Amino acid sequence: MARATTSPVSVVADPRLREYDFGPGHPFQVASRWLAVRLLEEDGFFDGHPERVAIREVPMASREELLRFHREAYLDRVDGAGEGPRTEFLDQGDTPAFPGCYRAAARVAGATLAALAIVEQGGGRRAFQPAGGLHHAHPDRASGFCIFNDVALAVATAIGPGRRRRVAYIDVDAHHGDGVMYGFYDDGRLLDIDFHQDGRTIFPGTGAVGETGAGDGAGLKVNLPMPPGSVDRVFGTLFSRLVPTLVREFRPEVIVLQCGVDAHRDDALAQLRLTPASYELAVGGLSSLADEMCQGRLLVTGGGGYDAANVSRVLASVPRWLSGEHPDVGRKVPERWRAEFAETTGEPAPRSWAVAAADRPNDDPVAEALVSEIGSALGRKFPVGATPTR
Ligand SMILES: [Zn+2]
Repeated sequence: MARATTSPVSVVADPRLREYDFGPGHPFQVASRWLAVRLLEEDGFFDGHPERVAIREVPMASREELLRFHREAYLDRVDGAGEGPRTEFLDQGDTPAFPGCYRAAARVAGATLAALAIVEQGGGRRAFQPAGGLHHAHPDRASGFCIFNDVALAVATAIGPGRRRRVAYIDVDAHHGDGVMYGFYDDGRLLDIDFHQDGRTIFPGTGAVGETGAGDGAGLKVNLPMPPGSVDRVFGTLFSRLVPTLVREFRPEVIVLQCGVDAHRDDALAQLRLTPASYELAVGGLSSLADEMCQGRLLVTGGGGYDAANVSRVLASVPRWLSGEHPDVGRKVPERWRAEFAETTGEPAPRSWAVAAADRPNDDPVAEALVSEIGSALGRKFPVGATPTR
């Protein structure tokens, strides 16, 4: 499955996305996502490549668009929140309201919908929305730093009246994408494959192997709960054994990847031990599958990720992988970006793109045991030695 060396890529780079800001000290820092955009710019990603486009302005999602997934009463509640003198939470205590939170969250959702529209235009153009991937929000409530669920809105939009019949959503965030999965649990138009740290050990606690969908969606929700400490080999085995088979059988017309990078080995909020190699496998593999199955229609968002140096560099690598590049991770990052990083985060800036070395690959039996458990839950077998996608 050879790939063209330069796939066209659009990156959402509207500076107003930075308004999705819970304040200093909150784990979710949208500034890390913006630093990814700035690293791409300073590193010359867009220079001399007319097929690479930075989208500087995206609209807020309209109320009508937000209602494709969220309930009216919840929109009203968010709209009136965050203006008082006391901190008010939109959930049990993780997601504080802030002044302008409705507009900021609607901007994030609008950016993901704008990225979807670009992908839908065809031509093999991929789109990346680094500030998106807010997969925990439910129709009637916020959850886990997520106010409006931009990825669920993208799915709802893609399968809306007169639109597509089949969307594949793959979620590699360390946390289970509960808002998306339960939002479409009985919907046969969504294949949902979700890699995450085992819910018995981490928020939100859901995403067990036995949760396989209901009604028309039966067998189309595939949960891959990895034990804490899982390394690239576990992810790689699961991805290669399951994703190409499931995606090819389903024949999606659009593929959405929620590429949260908190499964990274140095992340503060999760205990998985992946390196960028796993993210490159996911992005590259789904890029190939998108070319094979649906004329290259692939939308990628960010997601979780709580270490600024890693989040910014891994997310900045995504458009390079999407375009078919394999950047040399040993090379230096631009000095101007380092200064901006230090000023924005108050942390020492990394010197190169090198994020982390892999642990020794010794956990393959963990992945094989999960593959067979998932096979039992879905009432089927997966072939041994399935073809990796690249
Ligand atoms: Zn997460």
